[in-house]
Amino acid sequence: MGTFEVISQHGDHEEVVYCHDASVGLKAIIAIHNTALGPALGGTRMWNYKNEDEALIDVLRLSKGMTYKASAAGLNLGGGKAVIIGDPKTQKSEGLFRAFGQFINGLNGRYITAEDVGTCVTDMEYVFMETPWVTGIPKDFGGSGDPSPYTAHGVLMGIKASAQEQFKTDSLKGLRIVVQGLGNVGSNLVRYLVQEGAQVILSDIDPAKVKQMCNQYAGVTSVAPDQILYQECEILAPCAMGAIINDQSITKLKTKVVCGGANNQLAEHRHGDQLREMGILYAPDFVVNAGGLMNVFVELEGYSSDRAFEKTRKVYDNVSKVYQISRRDNVGTHTAANRMAEERMHTLGRLKQRHTGMSQRQFTTLKEVFNR
Ligand code: NAD
Repeated sequence: MGTFEVISQHGDHEEVVYCHDASVGLKAIIAIHNTALGPALGGTRMWNYKNEDEALIDVLRLSKGMTYKASAAGLNLGGGKAVIIGDPKTQKSEGLFRAFGQFINGLNGRYITAEDVGTCVTDMEYVFMETPWVTGIPKDFGGSGDPSPYTAHGVLMGIKASAQEQFKTDSLKGLRIVVQGLGNVGSNLVRYLVQEGAQVILSDIDPAKVKQMCNQYAGVTSVAPDQILYQECEILAPCAMGAIINDQSITKLKTKVVCGGANNQLAEHRHGDQLREMGILYAPDFVVNAGGLMNVFVELEGYSSDRAFEKTRKVYDNVSKVYQISRRDNVGTHTAANRMAEERMHTLGRLKQRHTGMSQRQFTTLKEVFNR
């Protein structure tokens, strides 16, 4: 299949940029999906893709996801993503990331990058030497540092909004809340849940992390990783990997709510419908885990940790709105979340065009977004 055909099959992207510099071994693709709401923001993934088509499909899919995530989060950001083709363990160099930074700079703020799988703060420092259009840089450079506590705080807000919807109270006191995965997000979430008086049941494939959490917080209990999804509980918070709601797991769930930080929790869209039929309330992952993106957005305004935490409170309202749309349109919450994102994009995108008489493209450099 030809490149243009692949692009049109994976969404209505505005721009796809191939970046090549043989002298430093750079082969990268930047995809700008939509800038109706603002500059396209999304991280750079470095991965040993089998071939260029696989990299292209990944960047198209991920950039579209960012458009929906930013819109549903209520941010003035569009969706974009970049992929670097190569092994992150052996093929990284200063030259590679600086060359990549120059390509980003050439886009003049239409695309803003950040860390993602396979890239780290050091890589972003090299990118930052060539372009200001990068976030997730260290605190010493005016960056926001680790986004996980903000993501976790957003997840807590999503859990409270879901408790309100399902149990008619947003107090978590005494609720049995299961946390799968005790990494950056999960461990912070456990801390918040304990503060809220929830009865936390947790698990991780790394026994040291389980031990540490159980020692740190009295009353927290643990179960084996292969049992964690099937605990009798009020809320299940997946904070490890994707596709955990699948044909094998779904009928064995004993929860009333699924609300956690992990990306792509549903193996397929139809599993969202199945959860609904089972009477399990599903809080769409990309709405729930937007706290990290909100934190990065604050970095663009001039970073303040307090303001970032304040912003993550909005996840409560966003998740509640998804539930309203789900009732209004009689659709599953995963469909409602997409509708919420699309409605905002269409309304604001149209307003912006009418107001200026300019094309959306002309209107979306970062400067314009923040000076208007
Ligand atoms: P992480 O790598 O720090 O933590 C993941 C944890 O899950 C690890 O401790 C790992 O041992 C554990 N794990 C893996 N498989 C498991 C299993 N089968 N059972 C139990 N535990 C298992 O990652 P993170 O940054 O905490 O992110 C967690 C999830 O949240 C990911 O899906 C990520 O994409 C998503 N997310 C993270 C952020 C963020 O700010 N870090 C933002 C948005 C979304």
